[in-house]
Amino acid sequence: MEINTQIEIKTRTYRNYINGEWSDAANGAIMEARCPSDGQVVSIAPKSSAADVDRAARAARAAFERADWAYNPRSRSNALYAWAQKLRERGEDVARILSAEAGKPISEARFETGNAINYLEYSAASARKLYGGATNVDATSFSILAREPVGVVGAILPWNYPVTLFMRDMTPALAAGCATVVKPAAQTSGCAMILLELLHETGMFPAGVINALTGAGSEAGEALINHKDVDMITFTGGTAVGQHIMRTAADTMKKVSLELGGKAGNIVFADADMDKVMANAVRASFSNAGQLCTVASRLILEKKAAPTFLPAYIKLVEALRIGHSLAEDTQLGPVVNQTQLESVLGYINEAKSYAKLLTGGNRVTASGLDKGYFIEPTIFLDPPAGSRLAQDEIFGPVLVVQTFETLDEAIALANNTPYGLASGVWSKDIDKAMRVAREMKAGSCWVNCYNRLFPDAETGGYKLSGTDRAAGIEGLMKYTEVKHICIDFSAP
Ligand code: NAD
Repeated sequence: MEINTQIEIKTRTYRNYINGEWSDAANGAIMEARCPSDGQVVSIAPKSSAADVDRAARAARAAFERADWAYNPRSRSNALYAWAQKLRERGEDVARILSAEAGKPISEARFETGNAINYLEYSAASARKLYGGATNVDATSFSILAREPVGVVGAILPWNYPVTLFMRDMTPALAAGCATVVKPAAQTSGCAMILLELLHETGMFPAGVINALTGAGSEAGEALINHKDVDMITFTGGTAVGQHIMRTAADTMKKVSLELGGKAGNIVFADADMDKVMANAVRASFSNAGQLCTVASRLILEKKAAPTFLPAYIKLVEALRIGHSLAEDTQLGPVVNQTQLESVLGYINEAKSYAKLLTGGNRVTASGLDKGYFIEPTIFLDPPAGSRLAQDEIFGPVLVVQTFETLDEAIALANNTPYGLASGVWSKDIDKAMRVAREMKAGSCWVNCYNRLFPDAETGGYKLSGTDRAAGIEGLMKYTEVKHICIDFSAP
């Protein structure tokens, strides 16, 4: 484990984007986001209140009703393509803000920004492919099933993949013809609002079709999920907040789409191509310091492979370069804030009493990193299956290894959590791998690979991991209503 040191960050100030114009919070309140690597102030942004949300939701409603966007697929597609081009030109700026705000290693932030362009271009293309259907319901009538945009969509986003998820969750709503109000996570206000700056520069989005305001979930977020002009909430974040949104939405009967937390099991059989597993398994479990909804936080390993696999794997994990997220060679950055640091260390300290610690287990306090929230990559072996370590989404660089002897045992272990977002299986025996893939209670199962997420392929959760699918055709169609228009041509 090597240590990287400090880097100077230039603070940037942002404003809300409402009805095509920049504004401060109505009450003038602001909030700061600090770099998780060293505590420097990265961003200053409005701390919006219900009054700002009201203004944004009304602007979105008016823009939607104007119908120049809702029923103009070509202009939506062209505008989204133009935005993608701006992002391509300014991708490095976005990646650097993302890295500084979220503490994400700059190499991962660049990858994320590239991915975001991919999602945006998928939406740009899909804006022109929104077909409905038609059917002959009887001899003298004909039914048209028309796709219409849902209306005003409120998008509430998390901090961990704030650029990609902005594009994954929000741009299909725009492609479908909806008008939108976005509330990014407070920690990553800057990298969301710079995307709005790029959008504004295109000059191709009618005022009010996209509005974005920064603020706290408990204030701006609450106001958005309660607002009567909002027809749908699309939310990506933690399960507890998702459950709260679902309950709240019942009052105004909003459509709700939830992409929530996970506790993925990555099953490795002894007959897997171990070179390929080794090349992927560290990234699968320690990308973004484990702060990834689909992170392979459980390695479910065939017992007979453990004596050779584990020592080699631990060596790779211990070699990860820990450092400031903006240092070019950093592989493992900090966790996002003090609360997350304490939460992860709490899990680690508790687990030391009931599971075998294989490596890590401490905060990193080396000089240069002592102002950041760094935790050693940590691996535990065989905690009780019902323990918090094996059940909860920890969201930090903590991997649980669970060993098994039979195929059925592996499947039972993988499915034994309240979550069902993602899973993986590694084996050269395709029959075995396909049996696992079919039995996983998870929205994704990667076979001999991990974390392969594409704009063209749906992702989402079973059980407590969510209600819906993001990306792909389903991720677009959820932003539409189907209207049945029946034409009768019988003689009088
Ligand atoms: P979070 O739930 O704390 O916050 C997400 C968003 O909700 C933020 O914008 C926050 O301000 C807002 N919010 C908080 N309270 C609110 C309220 N009462 N009303 C309205 N909005 C409110 O989640 P987080 O810490 O930002 O992100 C991490 C979580 O997101 C993890 O659980 C992770 O697994 C999950 N996640 C899921 C996916 C997925 O695709 N399934 C992707 C990324 C992250």
